[in-house]
Amino acid sequence: MTIKKILTEPNKFLRQVSKKVDEVSDVERTLMDDMLETMYDANGIGLAAIQVGVPKRIIVIDLGKKENKNMPLFFVNPVIIKKNDKLTTYEEGCLSVPDQFAEIDRPNKCTVEYLNYEGKKKMLDTDGLLATCIQHEMDHLEGILFIDYLSKLKRDYIIKKLSKSKPDRIVV
Ligand code: ZN
Repeated sequence: MTIKKILTEPNKFLRQVSKKVDEVSDVERTLMDDMLETMYDANGIGLAAIQVGVPKRIIVIDLGKKENKNMPLFFVNPVIIKKNDKLTTYEEGCLSVPDQFAEIDRPNKCTVEYLNYEGKKKMLDTDGLLATCIQHEMDHLEGILFIDYLSKLKRDYIIKKLSKSKPDRIVV
């Protein structure tokens, strides 16, 4: 497994719409393994393929951290077929928007249809953190970041701050 570089905003690549996967082959499985490793390394709970520069409709999620065990979930070509009218609020962050957080409202329940790691068609009813996480990751597949839900003023401020972020410090 390989740890990949996570793209960060501002980056035009993060704004493109990811393409549907025709068939889940070993290429996609290797990508999913690498994405999971990359996500664990960065201490994230979700990652979309586009965040490591691959415009495919694939996301990985693992909410098992609290219980101190790995419980990876893989979603290929996920589609939300049902969502609740009731909203819930979480303070969201994103590996592609480092060190920035904001409260975002999203439907508190959703049903998602997808292909799993083996390429089998599945359906999952989700609520709470998992529902929010899936919706956040699925936004990435459309080129949407959580900061897009904020006012233009707030968003521009965050992007400006990120653009100015310091270069890596090296000691040689
Ligand atoms: Zn994200």
